[in-house]
Amino acid sequence: MAEAESLTGSSPDPDPDPDPNPNPCPICLAPVTQESYLDQCFHKFCYNCIIRWTNTVARKQSRAPSSLNCPLCKTENSSIIYGYDGTSFQQHYVGKNMGNSEFFSEAHRYRLKCYYTEPGNIADKLHVSRYWKSRKYLQQNRFLPDWLRREIQAVMQEEDVDIIMHHILGVIESLRSDWLKTSRPSTEMVQEEFRMVLSEAARPFLTGRTEKFVNELELFLASGLNIDAFDKAYAKHLGWKIPKISENNDDDDEPIEHTCALPYLYILDEESDGS
Ligand SMILES: [Zn+2]
Ligand SMILES: [Zn+2]
Repeated sequence: MAEAESLTGSSPDPDPDPDPNPNPCPICLAPVTQESYLDQCFHKFCYNCIIRWTNTVARKQSRAPSSLNCPLCKTENSSIIYGYDGTSFQQHYVGKNMGNSEFFSEAHRYRLKCYYTEPGNIADKLHVSRYWKSRKYLQQNRFLPDWLRREIQAVMQEEDVDIIMHHILGVIESLRSDWLKTSRPSTEMVQEEFRMVLSEAARPFLTGRTEKFVNELELFLASGLNIDAFDKAYAKHLGWKIPKISENNDDDDEPIEHTCALPYLYILDEESDGS
């Protein structure tokens, strides 16, 4: 035992992948920008994140909400405290300036929920390695623009994302034409290049969710499915019953056991409890 340990080096590191960002915003998973606190539970979020979240929740309620349940602990809060400079702060009361959340559909919510769920072996089910090995990445995917738009909308909780969508599409297209011109020495190299270039392109917009986004993008492309079929395959894999997404899909395929490694935002589940 001691012998084996001494071989691994002089400074044993119990955590091989230390989190470079120990206290991220629970919503965007990136370092908190414009620190904001809920007034009762004092959970901390980015200002933009908690405002968007509030708008997303408001969309589901018939009357304008006058309070917000914390996405982390469910405590009822009535305002968001921000701009604290040591002596003063500002307060945003929930219920003011709501709107612009009509676009956020059930499908958007389901996609956002995927960002907080460990998807298990879905990459195998959707044949990701076959996609790269068989060089299917050289083909264009006509479902991609619509899928990308919805995905970015879901992740950013923002309706107008067309500029970002076209940016990402452009990056994918130029990668593809590059691959067509010059073939890479190995499949791994292509896949690695894809991940690196796409992460770089998406990070300014998606920050802490970039890695997951690139993963989801790869899954979607590799699946070769259209949006509906992709949603169904995904929901079925996770064992999620989502109206409009997993209609009459009562096959015997066992859903995987999925664990939540990420902060669990209860609000994503709210609707499935209710009706
Ligand atoms: Zn945030
Ligand atoms: Zn809280």
